[in-house]
Amino acid sequence: MSTSNQIHDTSHISYESLLEGNKIFVGRALKEDPEYFTKLANGQKPPVLWIGCADSRVPANQITNTKPGEIFVHRNIANVVVHTDMNMLSVLDYAVNVLQVKHVIITGHYGCGGVIASMTNKQFGIIDNWLRNIKDVYRLHATELDAIADEKERADRLVEFNVIEGVENISKTSIVQNAWKNGQQLKIHGWVYALETGLIKDLKVSRGNNDNLEEVFRFA
Ligand code: ZN
Repeated sequence: MSTSNQIHDTSHISYESLLEGNKIFVGRALKEDPEYFTKLANGQKPPVLWIGCADSRVPANQITNTKPGEIFVHRNIANVVVHTDMNMLSVLDYAVNVLQVKHVIITGHYGCGGVIASMTNKQFGIIDNWLRNIKDVYRLHATELDAIADEKERADRLVEFNVIEGVENISKTSIVQNAWKNGQQLKIHGWVYALETGLIKDLKVSRGNNDNLEEVFRFA
């Protein structure tokens, strides 16, 4: 296997090329189905909510071979899920209660810059407050993480813990717990995407009820 230090060339991308690209996209889509946009304009019923990293290399649709209308997407730096995030809660509420999605998938990715930054003692500015959430995840698993000598390996393990924490945190919300209480089919999953291979790893931490939550987080 050959390794290269080259990164993906983006020099052909310009403001104008994006608008040209849009025309190509429309042309291709209409060639396949002349009704394509008419149907999409009539409404959406995606069965999946995706919570992923803002990283440009992890676009929900492309890496799952899905199309517009098929995945409802929320992305932020390092796919952090915290209950004080009004943006995330609004997306979750709409996805669960209006769209009635069947799956919420939290997808991290190995080599995540946000996770790596959270492991340092450097100040990066306002983002430090966001990364604090990941530092808290580190604290919860410090014994296991500190024992991993290899820095990259340690970061990748923290990526996994951060996703698992997201699965936990989203399961603790009243939105998700009420959906389960009302018998709604809703599963929460944790995945990690590998930039090097393009493959997704299922962390197998799926939740379909609040049975596994610590007592104090369970709503009656
Ligand atoms: Zn990332």
